[in-house]
Amino acid sequence: MNLKELYFNRLSLKTEPIIDDTTLRDGVQMPGLAVSPEDAAEIARLLDKIGVERIELHHYQESDKKAAKMIHDLNLSARIAGWCRAVKEDIDDAISCGFEEVGISHPVSYIHLRAKWPDKTDEELLERVVDAVEYAARDHGLRVFVHGEDSTRADWEFEKKFINAVADAGAECYRICDTVGIGLSDPAAPLPNGIPAKVKAIKAETKIESIEIHAHDDFGNAVENTMAAIRAASGVWDKIYASTTFLGIGERAGNAETEKVILNLYMHYGVKKYEGKTPLLKKLADFISKATGYKIPPNKAIVGDYAFAHESGIHTHGVLRNPLTYEPYPPELVGNKRRLTIGKHSGRAIVKHKIQELTGRTPSEEQVLAVLSKIKKIYEGGRKASLREEEFRRILSEVGLS
Ligand SMILES: [Zn+2]
Repeated sequence: MNLKELYFNRLSLKTEPIIDDTTLRDGVQMPGLAVSPEDAAEIARLLDKIGVERIELHHYQESDKKAAKMIHDLNLSARIAGWCRAVKEDIDDAISCGFEEVGISHPVSYIHLRAKWPDKTDEELLERVVDAVEYAARDHGLRVFVHGEDSTRADWEFEKKFINAVADAGAECYRICDTVGIGLSDPAAPLPNGIPAKVKAIKAETKIESIEIHAHDDFGNAVENTMAAIRAASGVWDKIYASTTFLGIGERAGNAETEKVILNLYMHYGVKKYEGKTPLLKKLADFISKATGYKIPPNKAIVGDYAFAHESGIHTHGVLRNPLTYEPYPPELVGNKRRLTIGKHSGRAIVKHKIQELTGRTPSEEQVLAVLSKIKKIYEGGRKASLREEEFRRILSEVGLS
């Protein structure tokens, strides 16, 4: 059965989405996370294999510089970009680390501008970013993205001037940064935080060559806002970059998850370039967890250990007959696996199935009931976690089944 033909790919896109992963920049800015240069290089290698086409890096500390060098030496298909503030030292530093591409970050909302430069006029602020872009693009021939920090709270008249000024200075792409996650995916939501409205206004009223969305998850809308930007770009922009992090790691509530955006693009919109690459998603998630110390919640979509776990009677009964009853797609598609666990909510069907699986014998109805009553007792004692295999085996031996 071709699952995708049956249930997915009813939609298509008239724009090319490009994943610009920032796990190694925004992601590791999450409090308490760190990654060694060797592990950063392995993460970059796997991101590249999964179909990420641009990878954003830090390059300030010695370990970041070492990671940047190792990643450049891998000669990946993905482009490698260094993150800079709008100051020459940062751009010089990126050049000395071998970057041919940089992202220059600069606030665009008055909340940020007034807090950071209370005495500067709008013109002085524009000059500041234009100088940095010209220095990188014109003087040093770098490809330049400009990140409009806090775009979703910016005054549009100022932001429009800002985008045109950086485009004139040589920037090829403008990043809409939903810095505090207040963007809305509703096409009716107006500027500054209506994401579709902004994607369209930038096309209609500025001359920048391409755009990018960078969404934070403070309202839990980061993936939806990223997808909304991509949908709004369809038929309007020839391509759109999506700045995401694996597992959504990042500042505060984090970012849009790379794996979720990729799977939405592949399954719902039929974006073919991810074909055959999605089975690496779980592997990379587990590697990042190990490398950074980030603990993946078990129920995390796609890559959580329990993303395909079934325990309740109705669900396991259904899954034993046809896994599609309670799974949207086979776990192997994302490199995950199905887990049928035994616990508080287990019913006869799964217990019988597990006994057969572990002993190779078909138990009598009485034996199944005896096992179930032992399980029930354990949970009456306040137990919460599912049973480990050895615990289940012990119960089987107690009722003479092993
Ligand atoms: Zn961010």
